[in-house]
Amino acid sequence: MELSHIEHIGIAVKSLEESIPYYEEVLGLACYAIEEVPDQKVKTAFFRIGQTKLELLESTDPEGPIGKFIEKKGEGVHHIAFAVRQLEQALEETAARGVQLIDQVPRKGAEGLHIAFLHPKSTRGILTEFCEDKQH
Ligand code: ZN
Repeated sequence: MELSHIEHIGIAVKSLEESIPYYEEVLGLACYAIEEVPDQKVKTAFFRIGQTKLELLESTDPEGPIGKFIEKKGEGVHHIAFAVRQLEQALEETAARGVQLIDQVPRKGAEGLHIAFLHPKSTRGILTEFCEDKQH
């Protein structure tokens, strides 16, 4: 398996509107996209830092994964996403090493990426996402 870089860090927030000013005004980053991902019941806001992005996640449904996460743990880092070259192959190799997958097959994430999550029980507590950009 080949990981090329940290594609993004996912951060759960209660409100994009209330969170974006911190990233823009204090950290001096620019939000370049806001996108709803109905599949994951979230609205996302993206910032770029070098090759890496920050993905703020606001829940659109209290029963969705981010809604439940915030209820349990509050706002904070939700997941780390690694860019991989061959997503299907990376999933196969990971599963073969006994890691529990949340997604057995890739699905569509924000920004047209193909994504899959690994279960935090198998990754030392970090919800881990693999992303493959098929357009590049
Ligand atoms: Zn993500």
